[in-house]
Amino acid sequence: MLKIGITGNIGSGKTTVSKIFEILGIPVFYADDAAKSVMVADQQLIAEIKAAFGNASYFEDGTLNRKHIAAIVFNNDEQLARLNAIVHPATFRAFDTWVKTISNVPYVLKEAALLFESASFKMCDYNIMVQAPFETRVERVMKRDGLSREEIEKREGYQLSEEKKTKLADFIIKNDDSELVIPQVLALHEKLVIMSLGH
Ligand code: ATP
Repeated sequence: MLKIGITGNIGSGKTTVSKIFEILGIPVFYADDAAKSVMVADQQLIAEIKAAFGNASYFEDGTLNRKHIAAIVFNNDEQLARLNAIVHPATFRAFDTWVKTISNVPYVLKEAALLFESASFKMCDYNIMVQAPFETRVERVMKRDGLSREEIEKREGYQLSEEKKTKLADFIIKNDDSELVIPQVLALHEKLVIMSLGH
């Protein structure tokens, strides 16, 4: 069974494309959702977060004090990198545990916004990059989240450029108006099924 990473910059449509793979029967691990779950479930991670950011990181009932953490990492790249350095390994562990529960499929997908930035792409056999032009992505995210252009540009700033990601990716899916997406997904699915046979 192959492990395939799938990523793309903000608003590229990586989640939308991953849902198409799911319809084809491919299990998808959503790393960003998993990161949120492990922050309240992984005892090792909870201890590390408390040690790094204080006991106030959690309420007495065990829920995450998002405001406390956000206040520390907001506009502070060093603290954000510190938080990511703690959370990413826990998310990798969650992915490994999840993979062990799956069988009888040619491959699984790991969908992650920071697949390349977190180096988690190295743990995948191949990686897919979902691409869309910056302006298209800004329009989509403004519509979806009601964010301002400035906020989206700021978030984009935390991600590797599309150019760098494209170089690291094994496969590209174009999610703009230039090509239909579903035929691209079907063609790649067929390719990955064949590749999984020799794995
Ligand atoms: P993020 O990094 O912000 O989580 P994402 O890369 O996962 O974003 P999606 O959430 O899949 O992107 O898509 C962003 C928005 O654009 C969503 O509202 C989605 O419905 C819309 N969208 C995705 N693909 C297309 C498309 N081909 N045409 C029109 N809208 C699209």
